[in-house]
Amino acid sequence: MTSDGPGLWGVTAPPAPDCPPLTGAVRADVAVIGAGYTGLSAALHLARAGADVIVLEAATPGAGGAGRNVGLVNAGLWLMPNDVIARAGPVFGPRLLECLGRAPAEVWQIVTEEAIACEATPRGTLHCAPDAAGVAALRARAAQWQSLGGAVSLLDAPETAARTGSPAFQAALFDPRAGTIQPLAYALGLARAALARGARICGNSPVTDLQETAQGWTVTTPQGQVQARQVILATDTFTSAPRPECAREQVILPYFNFATDPLPPELRAEILPGGEGAWDTRKLLTSFRLDAAGRFIIGSVGQLGALDGAVHRAWAARQMARLFPGLPGVALQTGWWGQIGMTSDALPRMHQPAPGLWSISGYNGRGIAPGTVFGRLLAELCLGRISVDQMPLPVTPSSPAMLRSLRGLTLRGGAAALHLVSGYGAR
Ligand SMILES: Cc1cc2nc3c(=O)[nH]c(=O)nc-3n(C[C@H](O)[C@H](O)[C@H](O)COP(=O)(O)OP(=O)(O)OC[C@H]3O[C@@H](n4cnc5c(N)ncnc54)[C@H](O)[C@@H]3O)c2cc1C
Repeated sequence: MTSDGPGLWGVTAPPAPDCPPLTGAVRADVAVIGAGYTGLSAALHLARAGADVIVLEAATPGAGGAGRNVGLVNAGLWLMPNDVIARAGPVFGPRLLECLGRAPAEVWQIVTEEAIACEATPRGTLHCAPDAAGVAALRARAAQWQSLGGAVSLLDAPETAARTGSPAFQAALFDPRAGTIQPLAYALGLARAALARGARICGNSPVTDLQETAQGWTVTTPQGQVQARQVILATDTFTSAPRPECAREQVILPYFNFATDPLPPELRAEILPGGEGAWDTRKLLTSFRLDAAGRFIIGSVGQLGALDGAVHRAWAARQMARLFPGLPGVALQTGWWGQIGMTSDALPRMHQPAPGLWSISGYNGRGIAPGTVFGRLLAELCLGRISVDQMPLPVTPSSPAMLRSLRGLTLRGGAAALHLVSGYGAR
């Protein structure tokens, strides 16, 4: 079975909290639009500080990227640390790296403080190199993080084989700051924690209009309206009306996952026995991890559409068998996919389209920990605890991505073509 939705995570997450739609006219200090990690973390921190916050969500909490992702709680971005500094500049670059380097720790801390049941596994990640180019890239990444005080380490081939359970890799970068999570359960846990602190969360309340007023903002949904002094726009790639700018500056990279049934104990003991999450250095990457029940989850670039879905499923089965010779014959059960938003320089974006209206988006496939941290920072900004010049991102105008739809289609088609023909050697 495959779905454009949360897939396995929808099956194994605890029930969603009750979030009835907004009806009638209400007031709030801050209205948050979108209940993913950014919006829910902002709501939790605002509610913890005693602010009157309301979250308006088009569907249900975690319906966007938060409920569909791989669940790798990463430190930093896809970019090499030195590239972050080169692109973000000498002020924001080091600040952003420092902030995102400790972002997983903030996730683990919230999970503990709020007692969120989300399979949180802070046992690190393994970035695996299948070839010499990958080893060189990992060596550079390790050196750059180490020079910044990041406690990452490069594992050789035998150690990588022991830690992954796969003979396919020549090296791996172990990042002990990182780990895995049940991504939808984490989002729902954030929602439950925010509700418990007094936040209101309205599901099935797509914001259809956003108007600046003398007192702040009027936020309109099909059945209600909020008057709020400030608004956080946290809709990222899944943005629908009324301000599509955040989505338009991102090129969509579709990404899918397939999960097996729980593996028997003897296989489970061999694959990622330390509990890390993993992915490789190839451009058309492969990610793999286990969930708490021992299901093997494999993912890559692509969309599970009517035509390409079968191609990706067949590739995932082949790839699983290539990486883990002990796994042939284990069936892939659930499949799901979602859209990752890529910005032109692979850095997230912070906008302030008008006074009292903030947005951060464009995590380039790294939104669990960054969304959590940036949600808190947006809350602190709204509370006046920090000023905008203390943020780790500059406020920039939004600019639409060039040839966005065409590039998205090319990525989707290219991934399907490569998966159709690929042995493991395909880049
Ligand atoms: C397949 C996949 C794999 C990924 N893997 C990883 C990973 O392993 N690790 C990682 O860190 N990141 C990963 N990501 C990225 C991560 O999921 C996102 O960066 C993250 O979810 C962004 O959080 P967010 O809160 O900003 O947005 P989202 O989680 O997308 O939430 C936005 C919310 O806004 C709502 N919304 C949209 N329009 C409106 C409107 N008009 N009114 C009200 N609500 C609205 C949507 O319904 C949605 O619930 C992956 C993403 C995908 C799709």
